[in-house]
Amino acid sequence: MIKTDIIIIGAGPVGLFAVFEAGLMKLKCHVIDITSNPGGQLTELYPKKPIYDIPGYPKILAGKLIENLLEQAKPFKPGFTLGERADSFKKVGEYFEITTNLGTKLKGKVIFIAGGLGSMEPRKPKIELIDKFERKGIEFYVKDPETYLDKKISISGGGDSALDWAIYFSKKSKHPINLIHRSKSFRANKDSVEKVFELNKKRKLNLYLDSEVVSINGENDYLNSLFVKDRSGKGYNLKTDYWFPLFGLVPKLGPLGHWGLDIDKNAIKVDNTNNYSTSKKGIYAIGDINTYEGKLKLILCGFHEATLAVHGAYKYIYPDKKKNLKYTTIQGVTGF
Ligand SMILES: Cc1cc2nc3c(=O)[nH]c(=O)nc-3n(C[C@H](O)[C@H](O)[C@H](O)COP(=O)(O)OP(=O)(O)OC[C@H]3O[C@@H](n4cnc5c(N)ncnc54)[C@H](O)[C@@H]3O)c2cc1C
Repeated sequence: MIKTDIIIIGAGPVGLFAVFEAGLMKLKCHVIDITSNPGGQLTELYPKKPIYDIPGYPKILAGKLIENLLEQAKPFKPGFTLGERADSFKKVGEYFEITTNLGTKLKGKVIFIAGGLGSMEPRKPKIELIDKFERKGIEFYVKDPETYLDKKISISGGGDSALDWAIYFSKKSKHPINLIHRSKSFRANKDSVEKVFELNKKRKLNLYLDSEVVSINGENDYLNSLFVKDRSGKGYNLKTDYWFPLFGLVPKLGPLGHWGLDIDKNAIKVDNTNNYSTSKKGIYAIGDINTYEGKLKLILCGFHEATLAVHGAYKYIYPDKKKNLKYTTIQGVTGF
C-alpha cells in the first residue's frame, strides 16, 4: 500500500504547488487525480490561454504554468495516482486511509483536498449498454495509451482531447483508427484539425463527420462493435475493441461532499486563521474547493493557502518539533 506524509486530492495548480512547499519542509506527498493528466482546470479547460496574474510572469500559457509547477515539484519525487477518484477515507491509527473508485488504497498522515470545482467527471453519452461495457471496451479517460496500440480504436468527440488522442493513436496504432464527430466542424485547435484531415488522407484515420454512435454491441461481456449513423441515415458497423467517447468533463463535488466535512454551497468550509483546516483534524482544503470569508478563486490565492496548509500539516504531524521558516535562497533546493 502507498504510504506518505500528505495525500493530496487534486493535481491542479494548487495541489502541485503544495508538493513543492511540503518538500521544503521534508514532507513527502502522493497526488491523486481522476483525470489522466495533471493540471486541473488549466489542462482540461484552457491549456492554450495566457494567464496574466501569476506573480513574476507578465503572461504565461496555462499549460506552460502546469509544466513549470511539475518541474518545480520534481526534486521532491511526489507519487501520482492518475485516472482514479478519491472516494472514501477512514482513520486507522495515526494514518488516514483513502480508497479510490478503482480500489487503490493510500495511507497518509494528513489529507489535503485540492479538488478545485470537484472531480472532473466525463460527460457520458446516453446509449443503451453504456454502463455494461464501461471499462470493458468503453473508456472515458486514456489512462495507459501504450496498452491500446494493437487494438481497434474508435474515438468520439470534436474537442482538443478527442483530436489529440486521435492524432496520437493514428500515428502509433497497428490499425487505422475511427474518429466520429456529430458536426462537420471541430472545436479543437486549428493545427490539430489540419493534422486530422492529413491523417485521414493518408488512411491512418477514418473520419465519420455529421455522425453519431447510435448503438453498441459486445461479445463475452466485452465491446466488439459500434453502429454509427450519419445525418443522411446511412449506417456503418465499426469493429471496435476500445471506444473512447471524449465529450468533455463536468466538475462535480462528488464523494468529497459526503466525507462529513462542513460544506457551504458546494465548497468545503475552512478556518483561514488556522492554516485552512477543515472541520476534521488533519484534513485541510486548499484552492477553489474551499470557502471562507473573503475567499477569491484565484491560482495565486491557492498558492498562498497551500503554503500555510503545509505549515499546519507539519505542526499536526510533529506537534513537538519547532520548525523555523527558512528562505529558499538560504536553504536552497537540490535537484535543479
Ligand atoms: C477559462 C478559465 C480561465 C481562468 N483564468 C484564470 C486566471 O487568469 N487567473 C487565475 O488566477 N485563475 C483563473 N481561473 C481559475 C483557476 O483556473 C482556478 O482558480 C484554479 O484552477 C484552481 O486550482 P485548484 O488546484 O484549486 O483546482 P483545479 O484546477 O480545479 O484542480 C482540481 C483537480 O482535482 C481533481 N479532483 C477533484 N475531486 C477529486 C477526487 N475526489 N478524486 C480525484 N481527483 C479529484 C479534479 O479532477 C481536478 O483535476 C480560470 C478558470 C477558467 C475556467
